[in-house]
Amino acid sequence: MIHYTCDLCGCSLGKERFEAKIEVAPVFNEEELAEEDFDKDHLQQIAHEISEMETTGEFELEETGAKNLKLDFCSQCAKRFMKSPLSPAPHSRVTFSNN
Ligand SMILES: [Zn+2]
Repeated sequence: MIHYTCDLCGCSLGKERFEAKIEVAPVFNEEELAEEDFDKDHLQQIAHEISEMETTGEFELEETGAKNLKLDFCSQCAKRFMKSPLSPAPHSRVTFSNN
């Protein structure tokens, strides 16, 4: 059985475990990418497709070093993370002074 620890506070996780999947991928500037290689129609179509992909979330970069990160959280850190993903890791304190 795999043993999980919380990636934020480091506590060991039992049955209750939260998982965050984060994809980090390079983003290309559509305008720079297409200006010279395509005519206007293509450019518009590409822009349209890209915006569609973004809204449907089916866009995948395969060959450009996109990276998927997986983080495990305890329930408290999961709540914290959902509220503010970029806040520094807490030191396993139970002092929630929100609001
Ligand atoms: Zn935690």
